[in-house]
Amino acid sequence: MVYVSAGDLEKYAYCPLSWWLSKKYKVVSKEGIEKHRETEEKLKEIKIKEKKAKFYEKYILFSSIFASIVAISGLAFLHGKMEKFWNYFFIVIALIWLLNSSFFLYRATKAVEILQAKYEKMFLVSSMGATIIAFFVVILSVPANPAFSKFLEILALIWIIIANIIFYRLIYLSEDILSKKIKYIPVKSKIEYIGADKEGKEIISEKYGIRGKPDYILCIDDDFIPVEEKTADLVSPPLSHVIQITAYCMLVEDKYGKSPPYGIIKYKNSQFKIPYEMRWKKMVIEMRKKLLKDLEKGETHRNHFNKRKCLNCARREFCNEKLV
Ligand code: SF4
Repeated sequence: MVYVSAGDLEKYAYCPLSWWLSKKYKVVSKEGIEKHRETEEKLKEIKIKEKKAKFYEKYILFSSIFASIVAISGLAFLHGKMEKFWNYFFIVIALIWLLNSSFFLYRATKAVEILQAKYEKMFLVSSMGATIIAFFVVILSVPANPAFSKFLEILALIWIIIANIIFYRLIYLSEDILSKKIKYIPVKSKIEYIGADKEGKEIISEKYGIRGKPDYILCIDDDFIPVEEKTADLVSPPLSHVIQITAYCMLVEDKYGKSPPYGIIKYKNSQFKIPYEMRWKKMVIEMRKKLLKDLEKGETHRNHFNKRKCLNCARREFCNEKLV
């Protein structure tokens, strides 16, 4: 299988001869490289900070739970053993909770990928609840010990103070992330993939026989959206750019097993959501076939009479079929 790149499809859609010449003559846009480098750096920074914020969130959550357990234990050592009835009551509650957790674990194993994370979260919260109740039962059955109780309360206090410091750092970090996101990407999106990143491997679609690296992929409302940034300042996207972003949508569809509703093309001062539609998809498939035929023939030619295309063509100086 010959995998055609989305970039080649974009050039072919502009003019087949431009694609053909691009194999021999590399035209590098310094502005384009600079813009991509800048975007890559900013997105990487947001991604790293979001990872850090997630770690802080987890730390605060576990610290608060741990401090609460320690504080409750401290109280238990202060009052001594509890009545038998309450002992049994809490054991039954803990068992029901555990049953609940097992149900969520079962659903998580059966659920589709998108719902799996939600069920896993429910399982985690539910199991934590069961653990706390069981712990409560054990700790309330111990004899009173005021000195140990004081030690536990102090420990809980220290833990809460540390959690508070981390919480303030989290607020600062979240504000920083928000201000950066507003500039570059939708606030509620999550960065899923950065093409220029070392980890951002080329995406290959066995199904469509195409390959490529979108500039980045965002996760918005559980949809994976490819984004392509261009240095040009256009008021509407030309067909070649629509073909390229559709090819990226096809790659995303094959990679994540879910069709994106649209892809985004960003220009200097504007951006467009291109709906992922069958008509564009068919065009990409057709174009790929034509390109492979030309590759087999070992030649191709201009297929238009548009002087403006030739005027703006990056391969114009190497072309002997140019119109102007
Ligand atoms: S100059 Fe015109 S004909 Fe030649 S490759 Fe470019 S667009 Fe095609």
